[in-house]
Amino acid sequence: MKQDDSAPGRSALHLDTRAVREALPRSAYGEHSEALFLTSSFVQPDAATAMARFAGEEDGFIYSRFSNPTVASMEQRLAALEGTEDAIGTASGMGAILLLMLGLLKAGDHVVCSQSVFGATIKLIASEFGKFGVQSSFVSQTDVSAWKAAIRPGTTKLLFAETPTNPLTEVCDIRALADLAHEAGALLVVDNCFCSPALQRPIEFGADIIVHSGTKYLDGQGRVIAGAVCASRDIVEGKLLPMQRSAGISLSPFNAWVVLKGMETLGLRMQAHSARAMELARWLQARPEVSRVHYPGLVSHPQHALAMAQQSGQGGAVLAFEVKAANPEQARARAFHVIDQTRLCSITANLGDTKTTITHPASTTHGRLSDQQRQAAGITQGLIRIAVGLEHPADIQADLARGLESLA
Ligand SMILES: *Cc1c(COP(=O)(O)O)cnc(C)c1O
Repeated sequence: MKQDDSAPGRSALHLDTRAVREALPRSAYGEHSEALFLTSSFVQPDAATAMARFAGEEDGFIYSRFSNPTVASMEQRLAALEGTEDAIGTASGMGAILLLMLGLLKAGDHVVCSQSVFGATIKLIASEFGKFGVQSSFVSQTDVSAWKAAIRPGTTKLLFAETPTNPLTEVCDIRALADLAHEAGALLVVDNCFCSPALQRPIEFGADIIVHSGTKYLDGQGRVIAGAVCASRDIVEGKLLPMQRSAGISLSPFNAWVVLKGMETLGLRMQAHSARAMELARWLQARPEVSRVHYPGLVSHPQHALAMAQQSGQGGAVLAFEVKAANPEQARARAFHVIDQTRLCSITANLGDTKTTITHPASTTHGRLSDQQRQAAGITQGLIRIAVGLEHPADIQADLARGLESLA
């Protein structure tokens, strides 16, 4: 939905302010908190106006599959945070990627994608779109020359990256990938779930399209499933909105409202998540039972400098660490022990919540990979992923220390 550019000087305001204030104008009732419009359709004042609105010649809400004021407020606020002209809400993060690909690709087109992106993203691009003749290549997250080599001039339409990745927090160079994409006449898509626009705005590094799972940090409290695509008005109004009207991967107004309110505290939460994750990463690094900690905030991270430049000097909320072991069997047993000794951390693969979550990637999120694929991806049996929540850091440390100190 179009942003209201008539509001005087709004784009001059700081991001913290826009995260709280950016929305459609208040209704006639003067509500302070943005209204939740739970309605499937909208009444038109007369037949001629209805005709003009259906033809897209006049702005106005029609039907909530593709236009709703609460969803529009969420889209407007998210676009303001990402720095894009426009945004469109979707039913989920995967729905955002689906809408994007339906709207921009046709049979015969080619996509180059990082091999370390979210598992369902790989499945959607490689298998589901593969069925309809969209081709894809998967390359190393951090090897720019591999991205370059995979591009097929004239056929490659999208480069798709996610940074940092799950669970190893590998960081890609957004600027380098954007330049590669543009040289080839393609667009760079960045999945910005992990950092959120509070820490990382890919558009500032040349990316063209940002996708979000609103389910993660935008809501940030584990309540709803939601998604969005942020891009230029040409892409959103010209390609994605018409597809949304046909395809109906729509965001429910209720879920949009929850995400809209979640974004008001996004900046504060991401700072707090990052500070806690940094403290935990340092603590884990000093533990004798831990062989390695993967966290972009640590100087030991291979892309530390790049991460700090792209992520506002913050490491984000997610880290992973490996427990020391003599062999993979012992590593798995030790990782399970540390996980099972926790009483506070939630054993779940989800992330983006105020509650800290702990997971064993090799047997859950990456459990369907072959041993060989897992090894190539660096997902060892001793690896544990933590999405650090907002509990007191000392309590999280004590929760992990219980297992680490009693390793057999
Ligand atoms: C969760 C997630 C998605 C998918 O989002 P849903 O809202 O669960 O559909 C996509 N990308 C990343 C990086 C995610 O973490």
